[in-house]
Amino acid sequence: MNLCDETALRVLLARHGFHFSKSKGQNFLIADWVPERIARESGAAADAGVLEIGPGVGALTVQLARLAGRVTAVELDKSLAPLLAETLADCPNTEVLFADVLQLDLPALVRERFSGLRPMVCANLPYNITTPVLTALLEAGCFDSLTVMVQREVARRLSVPVGSGDGGAFAVWVQYHAAAELLFDVPPECFLPAPKVTSSVLRLTPYAAPPVSVTDEALFFRTVRAAFALRRKTLVNSLAAGLSMEKDRARELILSCGLDPSVRGERLTMEDFAKLTAAQQIG
Ligand code: SAM
Repeated sequence: MNLCDETALRVLLARHGFHFSKSKGQNFLIADWVPERIARESGAAADAGVLEIGPGVGALTVQLARLAGRVTAVELDKSLAPLLAETLADCPNTEVLFADVLQLDLPALVRERFSGLRPMVCANLPYNITTPVLTALLEAGCFDSLTVMVQREVARRLSVPVGSGDGGAFAVWVQYHAAAELLFDVPPECFLPAPKVTSSVLRLTPYAAPPVSVTDEALFFRTVRAAFALRRKTLVNSLAAGLSMEKDRARELILSCGLDPSVRGERLTMEDFAKLTAAQQIG
């Protein structure tokens, strides 16, 4: 069965009495070029173990199973079990775990399931858990790459260069851990039900070492969060408020890094944040 054929999919869902859940972020793909292209661009191959988050009825899963050595798909919604048993019947290298991905010990899962394989993530993510799931996946520190579909706006913010004016504290955190690359857009009509916004596929390739040298990561990210907390304020005001310091001290700090105190936080590069962190450690 072509899982992306809308009519056939509706028949399958009705036969199993399945109802979409908005709170679980359920929008299933109904354009076959999309899962094919996501799987291809993820780099899945015989030497790869792929963790998929949220297989739904398996549109992306079957494409990954064709390319990868092994696929482990984690699905929150147990009502999809009988559907997946049917749709993945011809995928012997694939297993489905019914669990909340946010509750899993990801390094343990990788050790147990993907021994001898290159671990990677490929998923059409449930949008309501984008930030916690990307955080958990990058913190796990055990994946070679993450290829994920998210809302276009999120993908754009996470992939624009730090300092370009469009990012945010989470984008800095992500780009401290991984190189971010926006791959392609997917319009709403490619999903059932159609979401309100366009989606994009984002590739994150974790770094072996961070792109800047930082000796106190906690202070680095406190500085980043402070700089972005008051978006319309200048850096002096943001740092003074966010790091609980006198404005004069904040101005001194900023000047010592060769920065303009009236600059806005979103204009700072990763290197600027590293310098601001080091300057606080000195003085
Ligand atoms: N992969 C399918 C596709 O592309 O057609 C479905 C993608 S749908 C956007 C997201 C899927 O993630 C749903 O099947 C949903 O039930 C599942 N899901 C939601 N929250 C989850 C969680 N915390 N852990 C695992 N799966 C989750």
